[in-house]
Amino acid sequence: MAMEQTADPPDIAAGRLPGEAYRENFADIDPPLDRKAALVEANRCLFCYDAPCIEACPTGIDIPGFIRQIASDNVEGAGLRILEANIFGGVCARVCPTEILCERACVRVAQEGKPIEIGQLQRYAVDPILGSGVHPFTRARPSGKRVAVVGGGPAGLSCAHRLALLGHEVTVIEARERLGGLNEYGVAEYKVAEHFARAEVDFVLGIGGIGVKTATRLGRDVTLSQLRRDFDAVFLGMGLAGVNALDCEGEALEGVFDAIDYIATLRQAEDFAILPVGRRIVVIGGGNTAVDIAVQTKRLGAEDVTLVYRRGEEAMSATAHERHFAQVNGVKIKHWARPLKITGSDGAVREAVFEYTRLDGGRLIGTGERFALKADMVFKAIGQRFVADPLEDGTRELLELEKGRITVDDERRTSLAKVWAGGDCIAGGEDLTVRAVEDGKRAAQSIHRTLMT
Ligand SMILES: Cc1cc2nc3c(=O)[nH]c(=O)nc-3n(C[C@H](O)[C@H](O)[C@H](O)COP(=O)(O)OP(=O)(O)OC[C@H]3O[C@@H](n4cnc5c(N)ncnc54)[C@H](O)[C@@H]3O)c2cc1C
Ligand code: SF4
Repeated sequence: MAMEQTADPPDIAAGRLPGEAYRENFADIDPPLDRKAALVEANRCLFCYDAPCIEACPTGIDIPGFIRQIASDNVEGAGLRILEANIFGGVCARVCPTEILCERACVRVAQEGKPIEIGQLQRYAVDPILGSGVHPFTRARPSGKRVAVVGGGPAGLSCAHRLALLGHEVTVIEARERLGGLNEYGVAEYKVAEHFARAEVDFVLGIGGIGVKTATRLGRDVTLSQLRRDFDAVFLGMGLAGVNALDCEGEALEGVFDAIDYIATLRQAEDFAILPVGRRIVVIGGGNTAVDIAVQTKRLGAEDVTLVYRRGEEAMSATAHERHFAQVNGVKIKHWARPLKITGSDGAVREAVFEYTRLDGGRLIGTGERFALKADMVFKAIGQRFVADPLEDGTRELLELEKGRITVDDERRTSLAKVWAGGDCIAGGEDLTVRAVEDGKRAAQSIHRTLMT
């Protein structure tokens, strides 16, 4: 293939910023409320009867109930109320897109144009309990039942915690070195700064009764058939291990990255100054991951970051809040364009070439008009998919899938006896942390009912 030549060599370098700038750029974006601010905010709540915010919370937290406790200075009571419904109340307070969940439903939006800051109040109530180092819940008497949980992300650990609380012995099997799933390897650093995800995992495990096997992969080190034989029940919370390909020329060039991989490296870095980042970045995609990689590369010192999405703004899965966040961070967003090819020289990326798109009777088509963006790095962020390979031990055929993900019923039971599933790997989910936590909790309750009858 003839490579197109450009004048500038690729400019990818570490340490683009002065040392202290990294600390600032990756610090907590939403610092916690102090007591005075929390009391003022709590007193704005109308403590609605049939509160719509509860309905809008996937874990059904009693929101007016905990806000009332904050208003009467019973912060610990508020925190416990939250954690009873959602053991990951700490991370959810930080990462939930509240603008499309509880806060969107808040009646104060219609009245004052501004919801109660439910996420911030939740954080105010939960953080002291996590910080105390004492686990607040006590396990039920041992049931004598053993459950395997595959995947140590929010779905798996939520399930493990609830099962342990109910008296069962749990073994978590996790492929990576650390537990936490995307809380540890995916979510933007400034949402869960200062290793919050690790502290929260320790807190969750503090219930006791949960054994952990990290660096252990289903499909390689153990099979589902073995787990079904050796345990009374199995929960699959494996997330989405595959990333979608662009299927365009130049995808294999050096300098073309899966956003997910780069973010995982960033999240594990002890020093952000050592991460090489391009001067000109092009991101392809329109969701959470696209926004996160765009903003984080900008905050690592990239000069020019452009996010390109093939449809209009309203079709992006990144929320309006996230899109605004990207723009105030200096990310340019271009709509209605799809990648045609990525060109380079000496094996390295130089340019990404796009074609404008439009809708033709509901179908997305190229207009034939092209433009090119100079790039030192191109990030692919066009979605992830469930990889069923770990189930190739004969169980895959018995496990029903729907649009490539595991089919479950309301209780998160799969089509395979003794096997439940939840989180991103199941069909019909919303790919949100809070949804994964609820799935894990529901599955645990269903497993408990099944094992105890
Ligand atoms: C970049 C990014 C940013 C995001 N930001 C947000 C956000 O701000 N707010 C929000 O609500 N949601 C966000 N999400 C979505 C959210 O992180 C997920 O919905 C949530 O983590 C799903 O939880 P899970 O437990 O199902 O899967 P995961 O968190 O993916 O955990 C799955 C676990 O299973 C392990 N595993 C996989 N295969 C195997 C195997 N074969 N054997 C053993 N273990 C295995 C994995 O290593 C992993 O630890 C983001 C997602 C991404 C990718
Ligand atoms: S909807 Fe808003 S005002 Fe009503 S209980 Fe929920 S947080 Fe309070």
